[in-house]
This record gives sequence, structure tokens and C-alpha cells, in this order.
Amino acid sequence: MTHIITSLCVRDRGCIEVCPVECIIPGNPADGFPMVYIDPDTCIDCGACVPECPFSAIFPEDEVPAAYTAKGGEYINRVGLTGHYEATNHHGKAVVLETTRQLDAGEVVDLTPDTPLNYDFFKGGPGYSAKDGDTGS
Ligand code: SF4
Ligand code: SF4
Repeated sequence: MTHIITSLCVRDRGCIEVCPVECIIPGNPADGFPMVYIDPDTCIDCGACVPECPFSAIFPEDEVPAAYTAKGGEYINRVGLTGHYEATNHHGKAVVLETTRQLDAGEVVDLTPDTPLNYDFFKGGPGYSAKDGDTGS
């Protein structure tokens, strides 16, 4: 079992340094890999990252919601979306994303397509090499 980061992730980065096995990696380049990703083969399922996420984007793999009901105002962050998001992350660095959409209250979103994105990031994607050239935002 692993934990999974879903597209509710807007790269706040609070989760990264609490991971005891250092398996949480920010996507790079951010326009192609806009989230932060967990390596399912290394994650020990400790759950330490979950309370660190201000956006409640992290779930145990078998609890990723197929019908997430939006509170309203939160963002999803997926390749193909075109909305602008701008904030300051956990470390005080600017985060600018152009791959978002703000959700309406009560809107229901399937977050299960985000599960394979975590696997694919490490299998065929940049994986740990994404740390090279990471700008911290
Ligand atoms: S703390 Fe949440 S929003 Fe921030 S990088 Fe981790 S999963 Fe993404
Ligand atoms: S559940 Fe634990 S091991 Fe897995 S990504 Fe989160 S902090 Fe790291």
C-alpha cells in the first residue's frame, strides 16, 4: 500500500520534508507535471504527510475518492486545465500554476485518475531526477 497525492495538490510543499523515506517529489517541469508525487514503491504508508497538507490532497491509495464533493473555492491542478493559480508556499516561495480550475461548492470530482499519475511519474516519467533543477516553487 501507498499514499497518493491527488490533483487537489497546489505545490504547497509542506509534506515533502516530513516523509521519513524522502519519496515525495515535486513535478518538474511544472507545466507537464504540475503536482507533487509520491513514489508508491518507496512509500511505507506511515501517514505522516497527510496532516501536513493544508489542501487535504493526500489519501491512502484505497481511499482516493471517486466522488470528491468540493467545499467550494479549492483548486484542482491537472494537465489540460488552463486556470491561473498564484500563492505563497510553505517555505514562502511564490507558486504560479496555469493548470488549475477552481471548484464550485457541491461539485463532485473523480480523483481516482490521479492515482496512476503517481505511479507513472516514477515509472516512465522524470521520477527522482525531477529534483535536479527544482526551483523550490
Ligand atoms: S502539502 Fe499538499 S498541496 Fe502541498 S505539495 Fe504536499 S500534497 Fe501538494
Ligand atoms: S505516507 Fe509516509 S512514507 Fe508515504 S509519502 Fe507519506 S510520509 Fe512518505
